[in-house]
Amino acid sequence: MAQVVDGKKLSEEIRTEIREQIEKLGRGRPRLAAIRVGEDPASKIYLRNKRRACEQTGLDSIQLDLPAEIPEQELLAQVQRLNDDPSVHGILVQLPLPDAIDPAVVASTIRVDKDVDGLNPENAGRLLANQPAHYPCTPLGCIEILDRHAVQIQGAAAVVLGRSEIVGKPVALLLLHRHATVTLCHSRTRDLPSVVREADILIAAVGRPRLVRADWIKPGAAVIDVGINRVEGKLIGDVDFEGAVERAQLITPVPGGVGPLTITMLLRNTLQAFEIQTRPDRS
Ligand code: NAD
Repeated sequence: MAQVVDGKKLSEEIRTEIREQIEKLGRGRPRLAAIRVGEDPASKIYLRNKRRACEQTGLDSIQLDLPAEIPEQELLAQVQRLNDDPSVHGILVQLPLPDAIDPAVVASTIRVDKDVDGLNPENAGRLLANQPAHYPCTPLGCIEILDRHAVQIQGAAAVVLGRSEIVGKPVALLLLHRHATVTLCHSRTRDLPSVVREADILIAAVGRPRLVRADWIKPGAAVIDVGINRVEGKLIGDVDFEGAVERAQLITPVPGGVGPLTITMLLRNTLQAFEIQTRPDRS
């Protein structure tokens, strides 16, 4: 029977560490600015949770709510204004954006050292090159869960399902840099069950309810389920949790696994951004 990760408790522990670090710094508070465009209900909930998490850990947060019809140029001007505001240390533009706005253009506009979601291509390039940067929050949360449960990454066969810019690719790179042997799967991967059966570490980030069957899980594997799927009013992951829990060594539930870590990693990225931007030796 697997150990079931308590993402909320782990998150609380890390948030306490963040709060203590902010208190110790004694040179003001990190400030996170969030931009929401339009009225997406999931984004509203997510941003409310982010605001609460900031309050809880001693970060300042501000939020700009912009209308769905805003022209791209105007949104970019707002991002630029935050780039130039020295009181703002981290910027995030909540996705999804309206169809008329290109998220790649927005991500490229966010100043690299304020890009706490790690979506600017320069930060993505630094991740590729294994250089210090802001890395995307959900992948960082996955690694944090593995580390804090003493799962050995070095030498492990790690299988990642999903190749998005925000989860699949960056988590595969983080695992690779930690010396796992990484297989990155996607919608056109042939014979997914056989690939998954080899995984000592499985990261599922697809968005298909119970795609991963219990008998695909290698006995003793660590299973990180990033997927969030709403089925008959309930949230479930990409992994058949009830069956997989019998075979894995470690597994994250949905909800209450990876989710809480994502916001916590955003707080940590914002604290790091603050530390870099307010270093006494920075001219
Ligand atoms: P996405 O929709 O951008 O990408 C999905 C990926 O899955 C694609 O790369 C596609 O190739 C792959 N895929 C599709 N069908 C497949 C199949 N049958 N077998 C293997 N791969 C397949 O997804 P995303 O933005 O990375 O999100 C993935 C899931 O993670 C979603 O459920 C999302 O809600 C969730 N998510 C959770 C958090 C969190 O904080 N917990 C954060 C981000 C995303």
